[in-house]
Amino acid sequence: NLSERLERSFKILKGEGKITEINVAETLKDVRRALLDADVNYKVAKNFTDTVKEKAMGQNVLTAVKPSQLMVKIVHDELAKLMGGDTIELDLKGRPAVILMSGLQGSGKTTFSGKLARMFKTKKNRKPLLVACDVYRPAAIEQLKVLGTQVEVPVYSEPESKDPVQIAKNAIQEAKAKGYDLVIVDTAGRLAVDEQMMNEIETIKNAITPDATLFVVDAMTGQDAVNTAREFNERLDFTGVVLTKLDGDTRGGAALSIRTVVNKPILFVGTGEKLDAVDLFHPARMADRILGMGDIVSLVERAQEQYDEEEAKRLQKKIQKNQFDFNDFLSQIHQIKKMGNLKELASMIPGVGKAIKDIDIDDNAFKSIEAIIYSMTPEERTRPEILNGSRRNRIAKGSGTSIQEVNRLLKQFDQTRKMMKMVTSNKMAGMMQKMKR
Ligand code: GDP
Ligand code: MG
Repeated sequence: NLSERLERSFKILKGEGKITEINVAETLKDVRRALLDADVNYKVAKNFTDTVKEKAMGQNVLTAVKPSQLMVKIVHDELAKLMGGDTIELDLKGRPAVILMSGLQGSGKTTFSGKLARMFKTKKNRKPLLVACDVYRPAAIEQLKVLGTQVEVPVYSEPESKDPVQIAKNAIQEAKAKGYDLVIVDTAGRLAVDEQMMNEIETIKNAITPDATLFVVDAMTGQDAVNTAREFNERLDFTGVVLTKLDGDTRGGAALSIRTVVNKPILFVGTGEKLDAVDLFHPARMADRILGMGDIVSLVERAQEQYDEEEAKRLQKKIQKNQFDFNDFLSQIHQIKKMGNLKELASMIPGVGKAIKDIDIDDNAFKSIEAIIYSMTPEERTRPEILNGSRRNRIAKGSGTSIQEVNRLLKQFDQTRKMMKMVTSNKMAGMMQKMKR
């Protein structure tokens, strides 16, 4: 399944110190293959991996997070974005508001009608009326009546009539007369898209102008679901999608592809045959589910927040009190070093990679600085002003550097300190903090 596949492909990144062109390319190839296998449309998968690559290469790896985890987070966020960003709710202003169901036979329209009636009745305090417009199979009307009894919502049906358009219109009249404020119209589907079914549902839609038209689709039907969604959308311009049977051995690809191909939101998910097995669609949760890695994602988020917030706050306080010392300087260097090999890092910047290929960037740029700081006593680190000539001499010897190098570092440190003080005491400080985040 998709989550296992992705997990395996992320393992390639594990143990790697940093994100590079090469390991990203390998991982993304696997991600793309996994998406295709999960019935994600080829173009969607390609665009997706391109975006992830762009994000990954441009990432600031200044956090205490492993590259593999960072990749998971990027993939997760992009998945969520692809599936629609935030959760969307139906806009049901009409009195009565009318919801029309559409979709193939067996997709779960009738079941979802019952679920929706229950949901609006119990959670939104509405008075729903279910309408049986699947007149071709007597069992279909009976099925809706059974569901209606279970959720204690009346069902409008006309056994004699054979015209679903008229039934729908009559039902709305009935709702008005009896004070129902939500009409849910269940319709007939076919095993495949055909002209008669499309004409019928289109005619119903035009006759009752529903507040929302929902396209119900079985999440397990894979790539076919996308084609069906496209054909229904061309005829009905539906409001949103209901993805059913997500409790089964789900191929998450349907959610991804439908969202992008028809550009309509997924609104609800069905997660079982029972009538309470329904939920609003949460893109981020779906991404978690597809990835099967919810823990890692939140872990990454926590790590990032922690670094940003705590470190920034702590440093700002120290700078304001003019207490920024060599220990802080050292921890800043360590943060920068976590970004990894400098040359490799620079090569991730698009266009820079080739240019610096033959240039020698000193990977040990910080080595002597670190050595100098390590040669200071704890008191010298926190109170650099006591560093007189003899102390400097001792430090130079201890660190295997020269007195000039020590002096240069002290001067740099002093300038850095002054600059930081200036910046933080300034009104700009708050703004800079925000920008940093
Ligand atoms: P319709 O032909 O579109 O009205 O589909 P039905 O509502 O009759 O559903 C077809 C079958 O799918 C029934 O056996 C339902 O119990 C089942 N079903 C519907 N929704 C779900 C779901 O979310 N999960 C599972 N496991 N089964 C579902
Ligand atoms: Mg049905």
